[in-house]
Amino acid sequence: MSTIHNIEFVTSVDHPKQLPPETVAEVAFVGRSNAGKSSAINAMANRRRLAYVSKTPGRTQLINFFLWGGHGHLVDLPGYGYAKVPEAMRKNWDRLVGGYLAARERLAGLVVIMDARHPMTNLDRELLEWFAPRQLPVHVLLSKADKLSRGEAAQTLAKVRSQLGEMPLQTSVQLFSSLNRQGVDQAIDEITRLLREGNKMPPVQGESGGQNPIG
Ligand code: GDP
Repeated sequence: MSTIHNIEFVTSVDHPKQLPPETVAEVAFVGRSNAGKSSAINAMANRRRLAYVSKTPGRTQLINFFLWGGHGHLVDLPGYGYAKVPEAMRKNWDRLVGGYLAARERLAGLVVIMDARHPMTNLDRELLEWFAPRQLPVHVLLSKADKLSRGEAAQTLAKVRSQLGEMPLQTSVQLFSSLNRQGVDQAIDEITRLLREGNKMPPVQGESGGQNPIG
């Protein structure tokens, strides 16, 4: 059983100006609020409250950076899709998360968490379509797979795989449960691979003084 060992919180940012220097490859996690993103990160790190997001709509939206020693940054993006978020908060999400996803040079891939009981919502599709031009790999976790029977889970996986295949994106998809740890090893392998590829990229000018602390 693998675990993301040696992970530490780096910083929280609520404004693009506060983003940390682009010194290492990054994999970002995003999904609809309540999809199980925090639980997934905690399950992979085998920690109970590494990633924790208050469920109160209206709370400050933050991007949380974690350093996985020897690998890179894991970046926990605020969830999207609260039914009742005020317009100002939606704008803030667009500016903060949209800005990050559109321009972060060391971003090596995106992990999108979708509830396996209702995956590929309109908001999920919008996000994927919007992100497609970056030409970065997207790995989808179909979370809470423990809530589906084996047959339903297999069907969902096949359906989502086919739906993703119709989009102009390099995607992979798997079943995941933070409750019974189904798919944890597979997800960690995928993230490790994305970060390894990302760390092969040349350093971002002026950010690391030419030193890549990982690669
Ligand atoms: P986030 O808003 O995407 O970070 O979602 P959370 O990780 O906070 O999870 C939202 C709710 O789903 C919580 O009540 C979790 O306990 C529950 N949850 C998350 N992952 C799983 C899972 O794998 N299985 C089950 N049964 N429930 C889960």
